[in-house]
Amino acid sequence: MSVSRELFDQVMVPNYAPSAVIPVRGQGSRVWDQQGREYVDFAGGIAVNCLGHCHPALVAALKEQGEKLWHLSNVMTNEPALRLAKKLVDATFAEKVYFANSGAEANEAALKLARRVAQDRFGAQKSQIIAFYKGFHGRTFFTVSVGGQAAYSDGFGPKPADIVHVDYNDLSALEAIISDNTCAVMMEPLQGEGGIVSPEAEFVKGVRALCDKHNALLIFDEVQTGVGRTGELYAYQGLGVTPDILTSAKALGGGFPIGAMLTTTALAEHLKVGTHGSTYGGNPLACAVAEAAFDTVNTKEVLDGVKQKAVLFRELLSAINDKYAVFSEIRGKGLLIGAVVTDAYKGKAKDFLTAAINENLMVLVAGADVIRFAPSLVIPEADIRDGMARFEKAVAAVVAANK
Ligand SMILES: *Cc1c(COP(=O)(O)O)cnc(C)c1O
Repeated sequence: MSVSRELFDQVMVPNYAPSAVIPVRGQGSRVWDQQGREYVDFAGGIAVNCLGHCHPALVAALKEQGEKLWHLSNVMTNEPALRLAKKLVDATFAEKVYFANSGAEANEAALKLARRVAQDRFGAQKSQIIAFYKGFHGRTFFTVSVGGQAAYSDGFGPKPADIVHVDYNDLSALEAIISDNTCAVMMEPLQGEGGIVSPEAEFVKGVRALCDKHNALLIFDEVQTGVGRTGELYAYQGLGVTPDILTSAKALGGGFPIGAMLTTTALAEHLKVGTHGSTYGGNPLACAVAEAAFDTVNTKEVLDGVKQKAVLFRELLSAINDKYAVFSEIRGKGLLIGAVVTDAYKGKAKDFLTAAINENLMVLVAGADVIRFAPSLVIPEADIRDGMARFEKAVAAVVAANK
């Protein structure tokens, strides 16, 4: 069967608008399309391929587990799930793990757990969930309603109730609204989709203190920041603030779908047998690949490497900006980097992405004004330089087109 981009419009639900390129193969930070064109990958899916494409450790884990056992159900547990859970517990604040298949599902579990804890301990009136404008937590109806962009949750009928939003980094706005009826505050410890916005250190500490004061749980959505992306295993470890519940997905499986919710024993107790579940969650194939990804990322070499590569990345981006003056700010942490376009290019971040594809480079955007980079955490220096040379050409093309 011949497969082309036109087939997408014929047979796929039109909720995505994929580019004309159809990639067929990847290796490390390089990807090839149907026509054999080679791209440098600074996107990693969307911050998913933490070890690039077809990393040998992940391929080996997939093959080994693929010949042993793919799926049971949660009627029985399995070795890869237990090993991965033990490693997550050993490496974080958490004492208990729940596995899901995606970020949204991990967040769904986190929100349901928070609601259940509040109801069990304090009563039904304690149901308010506070989240932040521009936050992103996934696309199930609960998580998209907690997310801070009404455009994503409008138009689907009545929303889950008792969810309110305040501005990120605005502690007094949170203080004004939080009360003893607040069940949880959910936040990203660096807003990804919302434009690569870092929290101020005092803000995060303040959120933690307000949660403690009102017996509200603090949920960190680390779906994008987790598993080495910021140079820490999890971003909370660099902020000096520990959440009550943490969610992880994207990089967790290095490209194999898996999500996880991490919490303490005392909170986990509230999800008693039968209260929540998933057919695939904790599937042995996913957990075996995630275990290999976790073992590879959770080393001093790789985590220090993220910090070093980030320095080079920013240097090269700054050098491009010195020439073309298209960015007002380069921000982010580790290898989650945002380049904010100047007013002259406001709303046009996507133009840079399109121009990059023309130069055989994959990048991302985060909103209309920010170009986002989320390369492999082990991307070789030569690929960073090659990709940045391509990005410079893309920037030059956008500048020329806007003259
Ligand atoms: C991507 C993302 C999600 C959603 O993850 P899915 O796997 O698409 O459901 C949730 N939260 C954050 C912070 C994300 O970046």
